[in-house]
Amino acid sequence: MNNWEENVRRVVPYVPGEQPKEQNIIKLNTNENPYPPAPGVKEALVSLNTDLFRKYPDPAADALVSALAEHYHLRKEQVFVGVGSDDVLAMIFLTFFNSGKRILFPDITYSFYDVWADMLRIPYERLPLNEKFEIVKEDYVRENGGVIFPNPNAPTGALLPLADVEEIVKKNQDVVMVVDEAYIDFGGVSALPLTEKYHNLLVVQTFSKSRSMAGMRIGYAMGNEKLIQYLNDVKYSFNSYTMNQTALAAGIEAVRDVAYFRETTQKIIRTRERVKPQLRELGFSFPDSRANFLFVTHESCPAKELFEALKKEKIIVRYFAKPRIDNYLRITIGTDEEMDTLVEFLRRYLDKPNERKKG
Ligand code: PMP
Repeated sequence: MNNWEENVRRVVPYVPGEQPKEQNIIKLNTNENPYPPAPGVKEALVSLNTDLFRKYPDPAADALVSALAEHYHLRKEQVFVGVGSDDVLAMIFLTFFNSGKRILFPDITYSFYDVWADMLRIPYERLPLNEKFEIVKEDYVRENGGVIFPNPNAPTGALLPLADVEEIVKKNQDVVMVVDEAYIDFGGVSALPLTEKYHNLLVVQTFSKSRSMAGMRIGYAMGNEKLIQYLNDVKYSFNSYTMNQTALAAGIEAVRDVAYFRETTQKIIRTRERVKPQLRELGFSFPDSRANFLFVTHESCPAKELFEALKKEKIIVRYFAKPRIDNYLRITIGTDEEMDTLVEFLRRYLDKPNERKKG
């Protein structure tokens, strides 16, 4: 090893889901929205004045922050934006988890949390979900340096009732507590109103799922003005211009089109609820997801085998070779046609157990 290598910040990076180049695949592996962004987004981009690109964007991203503040009935000072919620969450870890005490999150959860904690040398404790893959709220009453969990949780899809979220916040008022609501728009109840009462609570959301803009990279945090101020101080000490002109223009249009947002999220919810009984009938079980994915396990066919079989069929889902969840598949809710193709294939495949074993 070279001497300089002794001082490298060594990290084990997060591994995102595959983005295959191939056409004609059914891509149900990264919880993207199958529908296009609001029509106004395209119009805004087509008419974007590229002369704007000569200049730096507004470091405060004021137009986007204002659109979000208006939408959620907040003051601008209560909204922080970043390059996807991954950027927002990383800033939150950097800004608030500095006590040296362990931060708390579930054992089965978004697999970026431990990556940020390791990178930033934040100690942490993973609290096991119960056997139904639910967060055990009583476990979060212990000394800690901060609390974070997604609601609905990922990759399980299970939603913690708002009253339970509040109970956890109530018991943790001396640390910053974060509810990662990447999937909240698919039938969950947001903790946003609690931010008025609990000034240590941050609610994080994203344009990547319910607003069909994973490729544009926009995320945001909402909470008390003091929290947002601290986040901005760190952001401006890192990179002033995180939000580019294109993302600003597109983001504003996406927030404004409430009717389209409702229509597409409702469509996904309807598809999810239609597919649930079909999968149950085929021998799958799963937590009752309120997200745009289902986390399924089959009574007899191993998840790994199904993952491979689906892949051969050009249907890509997500498989995690991790303790407790290595017999599960996370399947994003696609269009009705995509889900019909998936269910049809599973029906055929699971119907022939003998051929399966030989194959
Ligand atoms: N939180 C959770 C729970 C997620 O599943 C994801 C998506 N990978 C994110 C945050 C980050 O999403 P984005 O950076 O696209 O906003």
